[in-house]
Order: sequence, then structure tokens, then C-alpha cells
Amino acid sequence: MFILLPMAGRIPQNFIDELLARTDIVDLIDGFVPLKKMGKDFKACCPFHDEKTPSFTVSQNKQFYHCFGCGANGTAISFLMEYSHLEFLEAIEEMANKAGLPIPEEANQPRTDSNLSELYELLEIVVRFYCTQLKEHKQAGRAIEYLKNRGISGEIAKQFELGYAPAGWDNLIEELGKSDAAQKRLSLTGMIIKRDNGGYYDRFRDRIMFPIRDPRGRVIGFGGRVLDDETPKYLNSPETPIYHKGRELYGLYQARRTNKDLQRLYVVEGYMDVIALAQYGITNAVASLGTAATSDHLERLFRAAAQVVFCFDGDNAGRTAAWRALETTLPLIRDGRQAFFMFMPQGEDPDTYVRSNGRESFEDNSQYLALSDYLIAKLKETTDLSTTQGQAKLVDDALPFISLMPQGALRKLLIRDVAKLSDGDEAYIESLLSSQKPVERRTIRSNKPAQKSGNENLVGKIISMLLYQPTLVHTVENQDALKSIPVAGVDFLLELLELIRNNPKISCAGILENWRDTKYEPRLKQIAASNSDMLAVSSRLEEEFLGALTKLQAKKTQQELKQLTNVKRVSNLSAEDKEAIRKLTKISDKK
Ligand SMILES: [Zn+2]
Repeated sequence: MFILLPMAGRIPQNFIDELLARTDIVDLIDGFVPLKKMGKDFKACCPFHDEKTPSFTVSQNKQFYHCFGCGANGTAISFLMEYSHLEFLEAIEEMANKAGLPIPEEANQPRTDSNLSELYELLEIVVRFYCTQLKEHKQAGRAIEYLKNRGISGEIAKQFELGYAPAGWDNLIEELGKSDAAQKRLSLTGMIIKRDNGGYYDRFRDRIMFPIRDPRGRVIGFGGRVLDDETPKYLNSPETPIYHKGRELYGLYQARRTNKDLQRLYVVEGYMDVIALAQYGITNAVASLGTAATSDHLERLFRAAAQVVFCFDGDNAGRTAAWRALETTLPLIRDGRQAFFMFMPQGEDPDTYVRSNGRESFEDNSQYLALSDYLIAKLKETTDLSTTQGQAKLVDDALPFISLMPQGALRKLLIRDVAKLSDGDEAYIESLLSSQKPVERRTIRSNKPAQKSGNENLVGKIISMLLYQPTLVHTVENQDALKSIPVAGVDFLLELLELIRNNPKISCAGILENWRDTKYEPRLKQIAASNSDMLAVSSRLEEEFLGALTKLQAKKTQQELKQLTNVKRVSNLSAEDKEAIRKLTKISDKK
């Protein structure tokens, strides 16, 4: 029987701050990777990529680690997640144990400030409803027949909590949507749909139901499969406040529960593949839910296991999907992480394959294609290597892909392979790659709406100093004066100042944790990783900080002055206006 984890709510931010304050990142990392003090920081050979000279740096002041080789960085929590393959909550639990801090009660209870936990609870009831229907509903015989035909045992059906949504438009509504409020909640979970002329109807009808659990074990949505050849064959929950399909992986929760030491994960296409493989003892398969694997998916996969094997159909659609998966994987393929590709024989999927060939054949490494081999094989397909033009083309074609990869042994290996094939040498390819850099930067920049202006850099500089030394907040005398300064990033700066004021002991790591999983996180990490050198002269930090703030305030004055003179250019200035301009000019000159 499936034992459910206790319903876990949000961990309060002040508990995370407390935990970070009680944990020294240097001690924590030193317990896994022996660190050496060098200058004001601590160093080691990076545990996340293969290297001979240490470029993995831990800053005690910032409570932050950064590897200059592979770019891995983050807080103590991030380190535990990466190094020990933990999810966020598990990392918190481990740190809390080490620090001897009990996780606050409310974190384990439904949140009162939000209705999200209600939605999780509701879906838990829906799971049980569908499971009961599979056993008891008079039309469930067809569903059971279908599962039997696919070779699914009762035990596996139970383990994955398979259910049956009966035919009809209002089975779920009748059972769980008796009041208006209940119907509203059900519709928030995506299980029922609003009719144009009022009322609701069940989304899933006459389908086998697959509950989708997140890594913490909470039900977040469902997949439903038809029993005949109706379309769509598979139907998924829509995006809801608790279900985001670009992130979740079907089966990951079960895979991690069944396998204490997960080394490898198979990525397959559908629910039935995951379940059919489990039926044959392959309990480490997951499915991305109706979408191509995203970077979020891959980060999650690599955090759970070092080796990821993508399984694709051998047809054209499968090959296209595989190529896309390769492109998504390249930027994430640090040393210590391995990606393989497995192509099913024509007309087969993992389900039929394991049925006819058995587990051993499925798990046989020799039929997998390593990521680099797959890349090279694809590049060779369109190139005639017997000519010099062909050899040059291979190098040309390979460069954009290699440049996606982080530094490390894998990248070097790929360069070596390309050099060998093109009869060139590695140093030449390296030199081409370094001259590729501007191109890389251009593509990154084109994603942003506009180039950074000098003003934004000024805000960036102020934020950078605050990350380095949060106590600088106490030198800000008139925070309100910063409001309504017409410069991008000022709103964020104000939030940051407020956060530090409310948490006087907060470290750089605490600040980063406050914005974990938000759009600000990557930029903040980047600033935290780069601000050590810039601020080496910390004795003059306060002076520099206040200077930058004054400059920022002057922007507002300049703006006001501009407006005033623009408006009044055509008419005569009143004595009042003249006085105002005189004052503003004086202030703006002072900066
Ligand atoms: Zn590294």
C-alpha cells in the first residue's frame, strides 16, 4: 500500500534565514569536500566537474560557493541539493537535523494564508474516488480488461494508484461538488470545466486515470487514457495553480521511493511506458508530461540521478524529439552527469520492447548512444568527410553545439573527436570557439528586451554591494527618496533594502534563498559570484555605496528638471517655476 507523506506546507522564510545563520557553509561543504583556505576564501577541486587545479571557491562572508570552471554556484541549501541529489525540502530537513533545529509546526500543516493546500487535499480525495471506481463501478470491467491486456498486475496498478473515471458528465461533481464553493475548488484543480451557459462538467470521462505526484508526494494533476481508439488518446490536467507541465515528471516520485540509491533514470514518452517498465522490474522510468523535456526537467533529473537515458521511438518524430532533447541537455552536461540516447526498433515503444525482449536487454548499456556519439553521428550524416570541404563543414557545424557546453572533460573529449574526424587539431578548434564568444553573447542579449543602460548598471552596482555587505542598509538615511526614481531595477532595490531591514542578520545566502525559483534568481547568483573582486577594497565600500545612491537620486532630479523645462519652453516661466528650476539645478549640480 502507498503511504502518503504528511502534507507539507511552505517553509517560512524566517526559518530558512535562521537555518542559514546557524549553518556555516564552509563547515558544511568541508564535510563532503575538504576545503583549503586561500586568501579570504576557501578552495577545493570542484565536486561537480573534473579538474586538477581548484577553481571551486567558497566564500564565508557571503555564505556562497562558486566554481569558476563549470559555473556551479549557490547557497548551502543549493550545495546539498546538488551534491546529495536532494529536493529543496529534503535539503532543508537535512540541514535542520544537523543544526538541531526542529522544522516549525506550521510548515507541516496546511497553509492558512493560501488555498493551495486545500487543492492538494482535494486531489488526494479524487485519487481515492477514481481508485474506488476502478474496483466497484459497474462499467469498470472494460478498464480492468484493458489493463490486464497490457499486462499490468493489480500490484502495479495499486502502486501507481491507477483509477477509473466513469463515463458520464457529472460523476465527480455528484461526488465532490455538492456546494458552489466545492465546485469552484474542483474547477481550480482543472478536474471539472465550466459550461458557457452555467454549471460544470467532468473533464475526464471513461478514462483510466493516472495521478501525477510531485517530488514531495503531493498529487498535482492527472493523466487520463481512453479505453478504445477515441482521441485524444491521452488527456492531461491543464495548467493550474499547482500543476505546471514544463516542470513535472510522471513517475519520479515513485522512482525515488522505490530506489534508495538512484543511479540512472529512463525518460520515456507516456504513462503506460513508465508503468509497463515497472511491471518488468524497471522502476526508474519517468515521463515528461506531453511536452519535450525542458531545462527544468533535466535539472530535476540530474539532481535525482547522475545518468539519464532518453528513450525514443525509431521513427522520424522520435528522431526529431531526440535532437531537441540533445540541444536542451548540452548546456547542462557537466562532468559527473551522463546522458544517453536509446532508439527503439521500428514500430516498437518501451512498453512493447520490454515485453518482447525483457528487462536485461532494455538495461543493456551497449545499445545506448552516448550524447557525444549521437551528436557526432548526426553531424556526420550530412557531411562528406573524404573531402577537405566536408571536414571544414563538420567543424563549422560542430562549433555552435560545443559552445553550448560548459567547460570540462566532456567538452574536451568532444573537441578531440571533432579534431580527429576533421583531420585538424584541438588547439585550432579551441581558438575558433573562443572567437565564437561574441556570437554567443549576441544570442543571449537578443532574449532581453533592451540593452542595459548605464542607469541599470548603477542599480546593479548598488545591489552588488548590498549582497557583499547587507549591513550597508543602515547607511541609507532616506529610503523613501528612492521611490519613483525612473530607473529600471529600483523597485527590486527597494524590496531588497526592505528585506535586509527586516532581517538585520541576513547574509548574501539568505538574500538568494529569498528569491529562489523566481526570475531574479539567476541574475542575483551572477552578481553574488562576481562581486568579490570588484569590492576587494572593502574599507571604501560605504563611501562608494553612498556615492552610488546619491548618483541614483540625482537621476530623479534630472528627470524632474527636464520635464519642467520641456513643458515651459513655449510659454513664459513664472517666478515660481524659475525658483523650482534654480533649486533643482543646484541639487543636480551637487552630485
Ligand atoms: Zn566545477
